[in-house]
Amino acid sequence: QAPEFIRAIAPYKAGKPVSDVVRELGLDPNTVVKLASNENPLGLGEKAKAAIAQAAADLGRYPDANGFSLKAKLANRHGVGSDQITLGNGSNDVLELAAKAFLTQGRNAVFSQYAFAVYPLATQGCGAQSKVVPAVCYTHDLDGFLKTIDANTRVVFIANPNNPTGTFLPQDKLLAFLKQVPKQVLVVLDEAYNEFLQPQDQYDSTQWVGQFPNLLVSRSFSKAYGLAGLRVGYAVSSVEVADLMNRVRQPFNVNSLALAAAEAAVDDHEFLKQTYDVNLHGLEQIQAGLKALNLEYVPSYGNFVLFKAGAGADAGMKVFDALQRLGVIVRPVNGYGLPEWLRVSIGLPHENDAFLKALPIALATLQ
Ligand code: PMP
Repeated sequence: QAPEFIRAIAPYKAGKPVSDVVRELGLDPNTVVKLASNENPLGLGEKAKAAIAQAAADLGRYPDANGFSLKAKLANRHGVGSDQITLGNGSNDVLELAAKAFLTQGRNAVFSQYAFAVYPLATQGCGAQSKVVPAVCYTHDLDGFLKTIDANTRVVFIANPNNPTGTFLPQDKLLAFLKQVPKQVLVVLDEAYNEFLQPQDQYDSTQWVGQFPNLLVSRSFSKAYGLAGLRVGYAVSSVEVADLMNRVRQPFNVNSLALAAAEAAVDDHEFLKQTYDVNLHGLEQIQAGLKALNLEYVPSYGNFVLFKAGAGADAGMKVFDALQRLGVIVRPVNGYGLPEWLRVSIGLPHENDAFLKALPIALATLQ
């Protein structure tokens, strides 16, 4: 029999794939818009596509188990050693490796209310306890974190910007927090949405790892880099932390196509810029549309917006269902304790338009 702490886990609920909606509702797949998983609406960049085509010629062999050339490129980019980089099968894998290396029964991880769903999963999967700090204005309360950390805390998870709320903590707050966190606690700073920050908000926390050996910064290739289907992410940390994570990872945790695509994507500055511009424009479009409908939303620093669909415990799901019938897939956040809210990812202008046109019709179903 599986241990109680495994049976108590509620499985991750991913964004609904277009194929499910087409099957369930008989809609034309070409008319369905998916704005549910914070993916890059531009898809893959040309450089990544070309690299995949080339790598596809040699799939009979195992991938480079140590990801030598991708790690070298990332190390160079962040000005750290290759032995400070850990590659993952998506950044989810990196988060799980951190949990695996530092958590076990009797220990705990601290994170915020409305934090990314993988934190409790990774924590409970190790038999450790989740300690949830109430959010303040939908964002992380770092003073609350400091008060909650106890002698058994070994990991703190902070997403910045945060998913699903889209909120952001400036670097002075993060640095002040890092200075006060006990050294036995690994601070996992999850920056899956970092590339969407505007220039005035940008900061480079990977530069802090030398000063804080208990800091791990995780980044993703799934969002701005457009490689969600390939699954690549990475962490920058001290050599000691990277060494521990390397002990618990699967030998070939990043596949050959993903390694090749990520290596090409890192250098595709033009694609990244285009992605950033599309997102900024889309954020403005969606937030202006929500405002015009008099809907409450949390101003976002990511590539998605959390908005209040209505009042009542089933408001979010009702509007989600109605939007789906109109061919627009968004993301319910009732699993995050936000049953009145929905999260919409930023798409291409015509996709955002489709969402904004369908939304008032979907909202009318609440009446
Ligand atoms: N962290 C956060 C905050 C996220 O929102 C996501 C994606 N939903 C991830 C990590 C994981 O992304 P991936 O595994 O695709 O890199």
